Amino acid sequence: MDEALLWEPLEGNKVRCNLCNFRCAIPDGKSGICKVRINKSGKLYTLLNSYVSSWALDPIEKSLFTTIIQGALSFHLEHGGVISVVVVVKIMKFPD
Ligand code: SF4
Repeated sequence: MDEALLWEPLEGNKVRCNLCNFRCAIPDGKSGICKVRINKSGKLYTLLNSYVSSWALDPIEKSLFTTIIQGALSFHLEHGGVISVVVVVKIMKFPD
C-alpha cells in the first residue's frame, strides 16, 4: 500500500482527498466514497497503485472526441477507480 497523491491533513487525524470532485473528508481508519483510498493514522493511502482495473479499445464515437478525429479508435486505461488515460489512435490505410 503506497501513500496517495493529492491529499491534505485535517484536524483530528482526518484527511481531505483532492483526487476527484467528491473531495472526501475521511476519518482515521475509514475510506473514501470510491473505497480505494484509506486514511491510516492521518495519512492517505491508495489500495490500487500500479493496478489496472480496466482497459478497452473503442470506436472514437464512444468518447468525447467524436468531432475531432472521425473514424479513429480510442484506448482507455483506468486505474485507481477514477483516473482514466485516453490515447487516440487513427487507423490509416496503406496504398495498394
Ligand atoms: S471518491 Fe475516492 S478519489 Fe474521490 S475524493 Fe473520495 S477518496 Fe478521493
